Amino acid sequence: MNDRSETTRKLAEADRGGKPEAPMELALAEARAAAARGEVPVGAVLVGTNGDIVARAGNRTRELNDPSAHAEMLVIREACRVLGSERLNDHDLYVTLEPCAMCAAAISFARIRRLYFGAGDEKGGGVEHGARFFGQPTCHHAPEVYGGIAERDCADLLKSFFRERR
Ligand SMILES: [Zn+2]
Repeated sequence: MNDRSETTRKLAEADRGGKPEAPMELALAEARAAAARGEVPVGAVLVGTNGDIVARAGNRTRELNDPSAHAEMLVIREACRVLGSERLNDHDLYVTLEPCAMCAAAISFARIRRLYFGAGDEKGGGVEHGARFFGQPTCHHAPEVYGGIAERDCADLLKSFFRERR
């Protein structure tokens, strides 16, 4: 597999031209890996100031018996650990599904600069649906939000996962 260098190349492009599809492909790979583990296929990638990948993860709620082990939470925790900081200023988060309210809150607390997500989540989303966390007066930092990145791939992955489970 030539995935890694391909991704690196695309990330370099993303840094120059701002193509959000490249890190999202990596998030999709994490989502597929999560599905293979029997987890809900959601993947996330945290990108640093130079376009470097600081952390990547897929959901692990079942494996860890932890309802908070969403992909976004795992990459935020890992990135904070690696950087030795509780803040991720100037970092961008890519996630295949619209974050839930819990993850939106964590994204806000971490001061993440931009949020790119794939598919919208009418049932569980907390950004454009439900709590709309970033729009609340109690939210003190809202990232720039870009939805619908590689939306079809992200949504198809979830659909086929739940179809197979039925
Ligand atoms: Zn979440």
